[in-house]
Amino acid sequence: MATERTLSILKPDATQRNLTGRINAMFEENGFRIVAQKRIHMSEGQAKEFYAVHKERPFYGELWSFMISGPVVVQVLERDDAVAKNRELMGATNPANAALGTIRGVIAQGIERNSVHGSDSAENAAIEIAFFFKPEEIVG
Ligand code: UDP
Ligand code: MG
Repeated sequence: MATERTLSILKPDATQRNLTGRINAMFEENGFRIVAQKRIHMSEGQAKEFYAVHKERPFYGELWSFMISGPVVVQVLERDDAVAKNRELMGATNPANAALGTIRGVIAQGIERNSVHGSDSAENAAIEIAFFFKPEEIVG
């Protein structure tokens, strides 16, 4: 598998609990390079647009509200097969089903406060990376 990039977000429950370094260590120990990273406070418009794919779901309102409840860290991760390997490392959406050793299995607090976002396909990764980063902000 060729080198690939994926968009990762450390969610407000992670920044609030001072766990960004611990999660980044898990990425680096698992072969990911953090080739772009910034700490931001998403606007309401940004959060609604980023999660627009879920706008018909019952949890949409709570989800975008949660995502603007505190700062987040948006980042670009790089390694071979990055999209799938990151989904594996993140663990299941609901931490009750996430394997021990996964980020969500170790760190998440609930199905909403699940600490990390990761792109779900290479196509979405490209869209999500461009949503937050200019090409010159990504330094591989
Ligand atoms: N989410 C939620 N309730 C649900 C399903 C999802 O609050 O029943 C939140 C959760 O924070 C999740 C995000 O919505 O990470 C996006 O959902 P998705 O199904 O895309 O899960 P993911 O790709 O993050 O594992
Ligand atoms: Mg998703």
